[in-house]
Order: sequence, then structure tokens, then C-alpha cells
Amino acid sequence: MTPAATRTTCPYCGVGCGVTARAGADGAIAIEGDPDHPANRGRLCSKGSALGETLASTSRLLRPRVGGKDTDWDTALSHVARGLSETCERHGPDAVAFYVSGQLLTEDYYVANKLLKGFVGTANIDTNSRLCMASSVAGHKRAFGSDTVPGCYEDLEQADLVVLVGSNFAWCHPVLFQRLQAARADRNTRIVVIDPRRTVTAESADFHLSLASGSDVALFNGLLAYLASNGAADSDYLDSYTSGCADTLETARPFNIEEVARITHLPPDQINAFYEAFLKTERVVTVYSQGVNQSSAGSHKVNAPLYGPYRTCRHGAFLDHRPAKCDGRS
Ligand code: SF4
Repeated sequence: MTPAATRTTCPYCGVGCGVTARAGADGAIAIEGDPDHPANRGRLCSKGSALGETLASTSRLLRPRVGGKDTDWDTALSHVARGLSETCERHGPDAVAFYVSGQLLTEDYYVANKLLKGFVGTANIDTNSRLCMASSVAGHKRAFGSDTVPGCYEDLEQADLVVLVGSNFAWCHPVLFQRLQAARADRNTRIVVIDPRRTVTAESADFHLSLASGSDVALFNGLLAYLASNGAADSDYLDSYTSGCADTLETARPFNIEEVARITHLPPDQINAFYEAFLKTERVVTVYSQGVNQSSAGSHKVNAPLYGPYRTCRHGAFLDHRPAKCDGRS
């Protein structure tokens, strides 16, 4: 009889692929992509496919250790609980802090937060996710008023132009890249990669804009100015749902193609080709990744591609965003 499958999630990257795990009679775990999971529909990349091997690793910690010696769970948990209690009694709850992992699942975060905030009584809990995403949170809040990513994976499959900024999609989000490539085969999606590096993703793109490091904001200010001067603004939408648009356009206007070329070190005809493709394509999706988040002036760079939905924006781009303070170089 085939052993029952446990449905779970690959912890390695933010795509969040669903996997099924089946334990064999010999204890080995067989991993497959979950065909019903909306993120991957059965696909897995090489990292996810190898999950079963990590479970069999001899160097993996399989039981608790206290003072360098193996022990049982009850003893280890009592030891930790006693340490936490004594610290709280002696110094108060704010003497305790948890630094947890960005690889935790939502339910794990909930329990860890409940323990610290609801039981111990301190707000001292953070994760390494902040290092990855703090600039993104700030950018989204400035643009949309909330830290909510307005896109979904299906957008990638329904777009005709996908603009990847600071993202080596092929390596870092491989299953989404596979989905994009499959859609590309169906509908001829064009891909633009904006990245100083010639990555595997850049090699497979229709356009690679290898701009000077740190010049992304100038490129997107120029795009905004180009779209506005070519009549692509949805003025009804902008009047009804946004604020600060006139100031933003005023700031972007000096970024003509010559100025953008001077700052980005890109040839003017490449910039023009990108802007024209963006202007003439109805279904455009802009995706940025850690090359934007984890860089100098990351929040400004996060805001800059958010102009992308400008033309047909349903999501409130420009809300209270004033890039007037950006000089396009930082
Ligand atoms: S893309 Fe690969 S690493 Fe990322 S969640 Fe899916 S299987 Fe895991």
C-alpha cells in the first residue's frame, strides 16, 4: 500500500511551493511537487526536489542537546523555560528577545509572537525577514498606504511584458521563472531585465539593461516622464484615487532620455526601446527583488518601479509618494 502523503511547504524561498512528503518503509522520505498547490502546480526546482535528502543528512541535529550532551525534549524544554522565567523575574520581560527565522511558516510566526507578546509580555521579537524586506515595506507604505504587494503569480502568466528589476529570477525564484517561461512559450511574453549583472535571467531576456549600479530611480523617473509626455496617463484614475501626482511628474520631467543615459550609462536607443515597449504594451508587470531591496536607497528604488502600474493603475500608485527628494543617483 502506498504510504499516505503529508502536504507541506518548501521552506527555501518565497515562492512557497507546495510539496507532498511520503515516508517509505526504510524511513526515506519521497518528495514531490503538490499538483494542487496554487504556487507551483506540481513543479519543484532542484532545491525543493532535494528536500528529502536533507532529512537523511547525518550532520543534521535530530535531538536536543544541553551543555553539549544529547537529552530528551522534556528536559531541554524545562531548561529553556526555567532560564526564561528566571530572566523575566530578575530583569523584567524586556530582558528577553527572540530572533527567529525568515524560513518559518505563518503558523510558526503566530505561535512565536503569541508566546513573546501574549505570554512573556515583550514586543522584542524580530526575524531576518526585516533585512530582506524593510525597504520594500517602506516603499509599499509610501506608495499604497499599506504593506501589501498588489500583484499575484497569475499576473506573470497574463502579462505581455514583464520587467524584472534587480532580480535573478531564474536562480532565486526558479518555479516562478518556469511559470513565466511556459507563459512566454504560449503568448510570446517579452522580458526586460534591469540589472548591472549579466545573470542567467538576463541572458534569456529580450532586453537586458545593464545600467550603472544605483541608477534605477533615474531610469524609472525617465519612464514616468516618457509615459506622461506620450499621453499614457489615466487622468480619471489619477484624479480620483491619487495625490501628489503633479509634484511627482514635475520631479520626473527633467529625466529625459539624454539625462537618463548620462546617469545610467545606458545607450539612449536601449532606453528608448524599453520606454516604447512599456508605453505600447497594455499588460505590463514590474517585478523587483533583492537587488533593489538590499541596496543603497532601497526604499526609493522600491518606489520607483511602483510607477510601473501608472498607466492602468488600479492600486493607487503615487499615493503620498514624493520622489522629489531623490536625485536619481542614490
Ligand atoms: S522555487 Fe524551489 S526553493 Fe523556492 S519554494 Fe519552490 S521548490 Fe522551494
